[in-house]
Amino acid sequence: MRKISFPQGDTVPVLGQGTWMMGERPERRRDEIAALRLGVSLGMTLVDTAEMYGEGTTENLVGEALDGLRDDIFLVSKVYPHNASRHGVIAACERSLGRLRTDRIDLYLLHWRGDVPLEETIAGFEALRDAGKIRYWGVSNFDTDDMEELFDAQGGDACATDQVLFNLSRRGPEYDLKPWLAAKGLPMMAYSPIEQGRLPTTGVLGEIARKRHVEPLQIALAWVLDQSGVIAIPKAGSEAHVRANRAAHDIKLTTEELALLNHHFEGPSRKRPLEMI
Ligand code: NAP
Repeated sequence: MRKISFPQGDTVPVLGQGTWMMGERPERRRDEIAALRLGVSLGMTLVDTAEMYGEGTTENLVGEALDGLRDDIFLVSKVYPHNASRHGVIAACERSLGRLRTDRIDLYLLHWRGDVPLEETIAGFEALRDAGKIRYWGVSNFDTDDMEELFDAQGGDACATDQVLFNLSRRGPEYDLKPWLAAKGLPMMAYSPIEQGRLPTTGVLGEIARKRHVEPLQIALAWVLDQSGVIAIPKAGSEAHVRANRAAHDIKLTTEELALLNHHFEGPSRKRPLEMI
């Protein structure tokens, strides 16, 4: 598995696992736990979750799924903006740690920008870091101007990443956010890397996939993984989907295939506001 480094030094696989919606349907719980554990065994050791997902239900599932595997995992969770005050972020983190059955979160993100001044959230993150409860912190759904403001704030340049919506049909960040992050040495985390399974599977994706005897969404994920400085975190609730996503990492798209994809799913020619799902 290819790796990527955070500016602070830690190295993680470029392909991790998302967890949104996991734990919300009791009849799928067993499969979801098995899927996450299989993903870890296949090298997808970065696991992304959030206090928002199922209002804690998903963190509970992640805690159960990763029981006995904690030291193999790079665990990412997120705090709600309305919990991101200096003291609120500490209390929220304690609750997440309890649900996740661990004493530390490797990377703790502000889920999106809210009303709390950035300096306050940074101070809370830094207090958590000093206490060993988180190792790094970062943000999510921050556009380029938000990142500039963050880096101008006291201590803001300790941010490790920005997690944003990025896939073949959501290429806006390529215009300025992705280059901005790259210039600072920050990986960009791509969420919904297969557009929640809704990308068109006919047309160019289908054609390339058919010739390679793979699935169209594997081609879409391979395209995200071909982008430099990007970590992709697809969510898969079945072992079959985990295996397919892991296999997508090993697909090396040719120059011709990349040209076809880039032509069909056009990149941005001007600044577009960052999209969110
Ligand atoms: P996604 O990963 O693009 O797509 C997930 C959907 O695709 C699920 O329905 C899944 O079905 C299906 N799928 C997965 N692998 C597949 C495969 N190989 N073939 C066919 N279908 C497949 O969307 P996402 O869950 O929105 O995004 C990924 C993760 O990013 C989330 O889980 C979450 O951790 C994070 N996220 C963060 C934010 C944020 O604001 N920071 C927002 C959205 C998401 P099954 O479940 O049946 O496998």
